[in-house]
Amino acid sequence: MTIRNQLAGIAAVLAVLALPVHAQRATAPLAALDSASLWQTLGALSADSMKGRRMGTPGSASARALLVRRLGSAGLVPLAPGFEQSFPVTMRDTSVRTGVNVLAMVRGADTSRVLVVSAHYDHLGVSGGQVYNGADDNASGTAAVLALAEYYARHTPRHTMIFAFFDGEELGMPGARAFVKSPPVPRARIVADVNLDMVSRLDKKEIYAAGTSHFPFFRPLLEATAAVAPVTLLLGHDTDAHGLHDNWTTQSDHLAFHAEGIPWICFGVEDHPDYHRVTDDFERIDAARYVGAVRTIADFVRRLDQSLDTVVPARPAK
Ligand SMILES: [Zn+2]
Repeated sequence: MTIRNQLAGIAAVLAVLALPVHAQRATAPLAALDSASLWQTLGALSADSMKGRRMGTPGSASARALLVRRLGSAGLVPLAPGFEQSFPVTMRDTSVRTGVNVLAMVRGADTSRVLVVSAHYDHLGVSGGQVYNGADDNASGTAAVLALAEYYARHTPRHTMIFAFFDGEELGMPGARAFVKSPPVPRARIVADVNLDMVSRLDKKEIYAAGTSHFPFFRPLLEATAAVAPVTLLLGHDTDAHGLHDNWTTQSDHLAFHAEGIPWICFGVEDHPDYHRVTDDFERIDAARYVGAVRTIADFVRRLDQSLDTVVPARPAK
């Protein structure tokens, strides 16, 4: 990452903020996220100094330190000592490593139902001397969830929200499974997971929300979101109609929630040429489209929070 690119990105963000009044009115329902801060966070998480954020490495610890510092100064409630939930992971070669989720909460006016907003912060690390920065996968989702956490720390939500930064998604999702196995609140209170995985490379100006084929009750909220979204929000990638790989149901951390019968929606873009390559870099992300995607997701989260008690059907307690 270079300073020049970062400044160009900030200029693009400021250009978005300087839309004419009528355009601002049209996007009024969207949460007023701090887009300059969002962009800077994305740059920091995907910098070479984070060494690709592989589980169990110093780069992972650096990314976690950034998250913990920001959550602490925003005043979120830690759901584990120092916000960090550690868990053992048995690797293929039977060695045992430690993964660490970062878990924070904002209490809502109603604490009986809890919404989880999640993203995995890990990526592939360093291989062959090259850093896999994972700017889209998934520094983009991580920076967005952090921005939402900071937003709701200042604007009390209707329902309690947990902001979960999962470790190890790239190594088989042990972080999400550890969370669901030992949730920091009674599992029956967790009503839904909104998972973000790769939300910045809107090369076609499109982002998908997967999950409505399993959970059609989310559809009206997503359609209302799409109607005012600054990017194209599409539904799909949640059936085998176009092949197993096209179905995202099993392809990110929401799978752990799915296995427990907890409804989820996952936001993401389709695979692009830089997916899981050393070229998944900050420089390749269009700031205005990324901010537009995050505003869209934030708008959905706001709508879901407003109607969580009526939209999501009650689940039998496990
Ligand atoms: Zn990912």
